[in-house]
Amino acid sequence: MSNTPLRAALLIVSTTAAKDPSTDASQAALSDVLEKEGDGKWALVDTKIVPDVVTQVQRQIMLWTDVAADTINLVITTGGTGFAVADNTPEAVSAILHKPAPGLVHGMLAASLSVTPFAMMSRPVAGVRNKSIIITLPGSPKGARENLQAILKTLPHACLQAAGLDSRTLHAGGVKKLEADAGIGSGSHSHSHDHQHSHGAGHQHSHGHGGLVRHTAPSSNPMSNDPNLGPSRRNRESPYPMLSVDDALNKIKEQTPPSEIITTKVDRSLPGHVLAEDVQARENVPAFRASIVDGYAVVVPKDGNLKGVFPVASVYHASPGEVKPLKEGEIARITTGAPLPPGATSVIMVEDTILKTMTEDGKEEKEVEILADNVKEGENIREIGSDIKTGTVIISKGEQISAVGGEIGLLAAVGVAEVKTYRKPVIGVLSTGDEIVQHDRPGDLRLGEVRDTNRITLMSAAQECGFEVVDLGIAADKPGTLEETLRDALRRVDFIITTGGVSMGELDLLKPTVERSLGGTIHFGRVAMKPGKPTTFATVPVKNNAGERVTKVIFSLPGNPASAIVTFHLFVLPSLHQISGISPAGLTKVPVTLAHDFTLDKTRPEYHRAIVSVGKDGALIAASTGGQRSSKVGSLRGANSLLCMPSGKEPLKKGTKVDALLMGGIRSEV
Ligand code: AMP
Ligand code: MG
Repeated sequence: MSNTPLRAALLIVSTTAAKDPSTDASQAALSDVLEKEGDGKWALVDTKIVPDVVTQVQRQIMLWTDVAADTINLVITTGGTGFAVADNTPEAVSAILHKPAPGLVHGMLAASLSVTPFAMMSRPVAGVRNKSIIITLPGSPKGARENLQAILKTLPHACLQAAGLDSRTLHAGGVKKLEADAGIGSGSHSHSHDHQHSHGAGHQHSHGHGGLVRHTAPSSNPMSNDPNLGPSRRNRESPYPMLSVDDALNKIKEQTPPSEIITTKVDRSLPGHVLAEDVQARENVPAFRASIVDGYAVVVPKDGNLKGVFPVASVYHASPGEVKPLKEGEIARITTGAPLPPGATSVIMVEDTILKTMTEDGKEEKEVEILADNVKEGENIREIGSDIKTGTVIISKGEQISAVGGEIGLLAAVGVAEVKTYRKPVIGVLSTGDEIVQHDRPGDLRLGEVRDTNRITLMSAAQECGFEVVDLGIAADKPGTLEETLRDALRRVDFIITTGGVSMGELDLLKPTVERSLGGTIHFGRVAMKPGKPTTFATVPVKNNAGERVTKVIFSLPGNPASAIVTFHLFVLPSLHQISGISPAGLTKVPVTLAHDFTLDKTRPEYHRAIVSVGKDGALIAASTGGQRSSKVGSLRGANSLLCMPSGKEPLKKGTKVDALLMGGIRSEV
């Protein structure tokens, strides 16, 4: 074994000690154990104190395990392992472990349980990240000391192996020699120790960390794979915590950038936008006293009796022009919508009249007999502002201008030519993968090629939902290519939707590129759902063309076509709605009745592609579109909804009520 001491670093996790280091007693206790009981094998090279904040714990550990020039062999944390709300050290550490070490955990717990049952209240974790062993000790100096003592003798061997010392060299002489080296015996139950334990693939000699290129600060949550390290060093399990769908939606709500308010012309591009202001009528409707029938304007006498023959003094059509006052005893012919002459107090419908005499040429009416008595003032007249008065709020802030309905007409009627709205984001859609080819490329596919299904699907869906779409093409699985494509896209669009490259393959570059090259933050990288588990949501700070700092959004959806479109509807749409001011955001949810039995996924809630229709009794019924495998493009055919199915071992029976998220219109059952 090596004669140079192993390098240990100590992280004190304590909000109190972070404020006042003098309150910490663990450091003294633990350095004492390393020094007095470590057989001279240890050098405590660094000690840091952080508060009980997950990201700070992770950041400091990763400074030691990922970027330190000389390997830190052992990272010891103390504190934050209990059950209190602030106790998060085990979670922080396990999220960044490359390999867990349950044996070390067992050793620590067994030793301290033999001292006190309260050891049950410590939740230690241990494992390997890069070349370092990490262990989490409790915060109490006594507990920390006992735990460390329990495993101290085996740690040198573990550390050397983690650092990449050849296993054959390490194990020459067998386990007895190892135990002798460590100064421990395997005791009475001398378990046969045939070294079946896996040593992983990373047994090259140490090459240090010089080759690691970091473009972002270590604090930027560097949990994704470093593509430079190659397949043997990638995380073998996603380091991202698995969020529930609700938690993922909450994250999206929280991290979707604020809406921007712009001035929009009232024209055909306005429908779909949401008003960012109350809009008032600029003018009265109608703007003048107008007739609502074809007939004769009259001045109603006191007794209301208009029976008799009257000369037709003037004629008014619905066209702008001069009007001259009307006197009692005269009438004026008037058409629907025409302005009334001043003095007129009512309009008699043409049906209530008889033509009496004509002009000599026979072309005009001269006299007309009116057959009405009991006429009241104001009959058949629309007064100024009787529909809408100047200054009244006609549409309120937050209301969406629909494409089917009257809002746009309302704005037009009252002379509003532009309004303040929430700007709709421009969306770029990118496919990734070396195997993906343009969907309409002529000729047969070569082995391994796949036609790009997702880009055209997502662009169509986003456009149908009312958003401007930019085609970002297909990016190859090369770190540089992807980075360049994304950088360029960030200049052109507000939201980027990518598909592919978020699984756990070594060519799955999305997360590392977003985090390491673009300085983005990944808010989640895994969701407990089917399909769509690797759905990833990130934001990236950028400067816009005006040099202002803005945040852009990247949704990286799984490559499988069904997963991509399901997660678009489920996660991307609510974010697009939110930033556009559309509320409630996301698909409309309605209760439906299952038309047949549905098998469930045993562990994950499933979004089952289905056809919802109106049954004969008026109730909504849902039938599956068939096979739901995430690669099945056909599972979306005809689907107008996603059924929110719980996880479960037994099928859900026909007739059960579930929620359906509506992607499209509902038809009557055929
Ligand atoms: P990935 O997430 O890149 O591992 O992709 C998962 C699966 O989806 C693979 O079988 C890919 O070939 C497939 N896939 C990825 N992108 C697309 C796409 N744009 N169109 C069709 N299939 C795709
Ligand atoms: Mg791929």
